[in-house]
Amino acid sequence: MNGSTKRGRIAALILLCSVLSAAADVPVPRISGDEVLALAAELSGPLYEGRGIGTEGGRRAAGLLEGMLRKAGYRVQFQEFPERPGFNRGEAGLDVLLPGGARQTFVYRKDFRETARGGWTGGTVEGPLRLLEARGQEFPGGSVLLIPASLYDPAALDSYAARGAKGVILELPEGSPAQRSGYTGAAPGALVEPKQGMIVLAVSSDAYRRLADAAAGKARVRMSSPVRFEDARGRNIVAAWNGDGGDFRPTLAFIAHYDHMGTDADGSRFPGALDNASGTALAVRLAEAIALGSTRADFALVLTDGEEVNLGGAWALARDPPFPLRGVSVVNLDMVGSRADMELSVFHNGDPASRQLADRIAEVVREAGFTAVLRSPVYNLDHGHLPRAGARAVSVCEFDTSFYHTKEDLPGILSASELSVLGGALLRFALEELESR
Ligand SMILES: [Zn+2]
Repeated sequence: MNGSTKRGRIAALILLCSVLSAAADVPVPRISGDEVLALAAELSGPLYEGRGIGTEGGRRAAGLLEGMLRKAGYRVQFQEFPERPGFNRGEAGLDVLLPGGARQTFVYRKDFRETARGGWTGGTVEGPLRLLEARGQEFPGGSVLLIPASLYDPAALDSYAARGAKGVILELPEGSPAQRSGYTGAAPGALVEPKQGMIVLAVSSDAYRRLADAAAGKARVRMSSPVRFEDARGRNIVAAWNGDGGDFRPTLAFIAHYDHMGTDADGSRFPGALDNASGTALAVRLAEAIALGSTRADFALVLTDGEEVNLGGAWALARDPPFPLRGVSVVNLDMVGSRADMELSVFHNGDPASRQLADRIAEVVREAGFTAVLRSPVYNLDHGHLPRAGARAVSVCEFDTSFYHTKEDLPGILSASELSVLGGALLRFALEELESR
């Protein structure tokens, strides 16, 4: 569906909704896109420092969200879990030293970035630059290896270190150095084992070509990575609406990760407006609207931490559920309301119960005018761990990668009208689900 058709339908729906709510005299629970956007903008702001797991900013975000949910009438508890993220605390630098004494300086976040993958602790090294043209190629100990994207294999890093490489510079197979990646490559629920003795950086294809020329000219390289791995406590926010006053056994839960990539060493932050202040804000506004309707059913909202490292919050939720997850329909909101004209993906693992929920959600959002595409199996969002605990789980995601994990993921890329319409559709779905119990 093209943009104008989509916007036209959305505008008609908004008009219809406001006519309907004006006709009824009782307060109708509804979602205001402006209110969603205002909360997303707040969470993306300087006070929350990019909401990195285990940081002051992340704690402040949890405090804000906890307070809002308590005020709306929820019982709120924290679920803590261990994680070991990479923080950017040290120096970042990449310089080529040419034989004649000339120096080429590469620019952090434009030409190169750090990588947390594999757990290699940062620091500074200097050595001769060698282009690796085949995996098994010999090289002298103390070299800095330049590795083309075509040979990139995260599992091979250990073997380069064992063969005496001091540094590795990887050509990025996709994405740009403006993006921060927090994924350490640890197994689900495991803490990465930090490694020392080799420094790893990633470069753009353009920077890779310049480095390859320098390697042919027998250049040396001086490189620094800012990555430092530190133990941190993740903090899920578990909000319970106990509508029937008995045991808390919800049949429906919304979840959204509130953490993001934190800051660089210079204090500049990754705002994470679309990823995932948007989903967090929409989930909180949905929870407020559901509470306003005084439903007699049980309903849960879980705002997860540590998604950006290794889905740690969702893992903790599945491993040690704070309420029974068996049979619960879980809808994860991760990146919603982008201004870009794009389809809404409904991701799930492919298990029959989740597929059924995905079909239902796709139908609900299509009725609201969105183009929805079901995709499975997809495991690497917060829904992915939940079927192991017996839940049916999907993620609703507008995977707009234009500013993904960059410092440009700002509230200006969100659309209030789209958040109104998506929120309205999900609220109708939630109220129908809760009332059918
Ligand atoms: Zn993300």
